[in-house]
Amino acid sequence: MKIQIGRDLSTSKLRLTNGEKSVLTDRADVPSTVSPEHCEIDVEDNCIKLRNLDINNYTYVNGQAVEAKTIQKTDKVEFGSDHYLFDWKSLDGVLPPMADIRPLRNVWDSYEQQNIGLQIDERRFNTLRSITGLITMVAIALSIATGGKSPWYLLLYGVAITASLVFFVKAYRDAAKIPQKRQELTKKFQHDYVCPHCGRFLGNQSYDILTQNTCCPYCKTKFIH
Ligand SMILES: [Zn+2]
Repeated sequence: MKIQIGRDLSTSKLRLTNGEKSVLTDRADVPSTVSPEHCEIDVEDNCIKLRNLDINNYTYVNGQAVEAKTIQKTDKVEFGSDHYLFDWKSLDGVLPPMADIRPLRNVWDSYEQQNIGLQIDERRFNTLRSITGLITMVAIALSIATGGKSPWYLLLYGVAITASLVFFVKAYRDAAKIPQKRQELTKKFQHDYVCPHCGRFLGNQSYDILTQNTCCPYCKTKFIH
């Protein structure tokens, strides 16, 4: 985006204009050697290009007079033959806001891991539970094979019944616990996986999918990822 910079004639402040948006800096000490349409700064991602808007304008980058130059925010930029120092912070007033979403990668990874963890716990429990059926089948086979004479099949029936009871009690208690855990996990995720600028939830999409957006769908803040 292109930002025009020049002196505001009525206030002697620096005016920065980005399309419809125009701001004046606080200080009213811009010398008359800075013209009303002095130069333009073109900001595109990490590339900043500076260009004089008139042949009679003087612009200095690190003390060197330039007509057009690719610059960085660490460069010392001065306008006019009086070397009026440009304050880079004044650019923030006309640039659209930016939000660093990189910490959201950890939020997503942790949510996904905990979610998978919950699923694994549930499946493992169901697998363990099926063992009672297996013990019962062995007990039946043993009783048939021995004509009901071996005491072992009775013991196995006992084990199967006890295991069933234990699993029943655990399943009954977990019936409330697991959905509650899941709900807490979702709640925390919806609280943390938000646009750093407007705070709105960014949806149940992975961080990699999220980075396909250049900006927040709600407040249009540009994402840094
Ligand atoms: Zn937002």
